[in-house]
Amino acid sequence: MTLKQTLAKLVSIDSVSSRSNSEIVAYLEKRCEAAGLKVRRFPYIDESGVEKFNLVAQTSVCDSTVQTSINDSPAEASATVELALVGHTDVVPYDPSWSEALHLTERDGKLYGRGACDTKAFIAAALTAIESVGLKKLKRPLALVFTADEEVGCLGAKRLVAARPFRPRYAIVGEPTSLQPMPAGKGYSLAEITVHGREAHSAYPAIGESANFRAARLISMIERIADKLKREEQAGFDPPYTSLNIGILKGGTAKNIIAGECYFTLEWRPIPNQKSDRVLERVKSAVEELQKQDPEFSCEINAARADESFETPADSPLVQLLEKTSGRQSGTVAFGTEAPQMISLGAEAVVFGPGDIRVAHRTGEFVPVDQLENCVEILKTAITQLCT
Ligand SMILES: [Zn+2]
Repeated sequence: MTLKQTLAKLVSIDSVSSRSNSEIVAYLEKRCEAAGLKVRRFPYIDESGVEKFNLVAQTSVCDSTVQTSINDSPAEASATVELALVGHTDVVPYDPSWSEALHLTERDGKLYGRGACDTKAFIAAALTAIESVGLKKLKRPLALVFTADEEVGCLGAKRLVAARPFRPRYAIVGEPTSLQPMPAGKGYSLAEITVHGREAHSAYPAIGESANFRAARLISMIERIADKLKREEQAGFDPPYTSLNIGILKGGTAKNIIAGECYFTLEWRPIPNQKSDRVLERVKSAVEELQKQDPEFSCEINAARADESFETPADSPLVQLLEKTSGRQSGTVAFGTEAPQMISLGAEAVVFGPGDIRVAHRTGEFVPVDQLENCVEILKTAITQLCT
């Protein structure tokens, strides 16, 4: 099957995150087995009761997976893989009136379809690369990793980390970067904060306590925290500091009731030099300070998400190899990827793939044919140089 036919097949399988990815996984399993890889499925049931699969296809499975004793940690029990090529099988939803969504269409050197760019192009390139590179000559293990639920919070990759199916030395995480190696990215954290007050008729303020006024005091302290964090810069990022945002704010129930509760979300995108809970610690200190002035001040902080930032050193052989073969200097990604999960499995990870993230997630998503073809050559070079 040609590269374009492979991408057309992948795009034709509807794999929007809300659906089961069983069909696309079954297809990838068949292709990988035909290429001589051993496949393992890692199933799970998502929040809505839908069955999802992560799929790992390896050139060889080390015997240590079978022979390890009961005392070994799961990490020690899993086999080392020299290079993992990682692509998520799910895509974001598409407008039903977009007729090309599941029918890959070529126009002016571009291939259009849902997932054509994010990230089925990378998967098609990876399949084509392993089929043409000659796996028999590889001395070190290679793995293809296909995950579920990336678009809804890297949930599949997080499950895979818990299962520890292998220890990758290097990982190329397929995302649209226009073939620019991205060895670093900001993290993503979210907290939901509920500030409590005491409801009362607004004509009698002495018997109530406004949750909205209390939240306003906390929020102005959070704004000062955000300003201070701007002084801690890390070059290569835009903006070069940890940014904060209060995206949702809801407080009170009526204009003449003193608000009993005020809820807001706080998200921040930490630079790699900072721990992901740095902001949370500062917010907690701010709450303690407010409690000194107002002993009844109370709030709940629910740390809803903490996806780590990542940074693979510039002298990593994988970074050097991708810079050389792509002819492009490394950059940084601003969007969430599965690189942190690969790093927690032990890899030096770089985000890399054909297509531009700015055209992903929208009607008319496409991948340029020349980038798709170049990606195959770059992956073949990476496989040959790292695994033989
Ligand atoms: Zn993606």
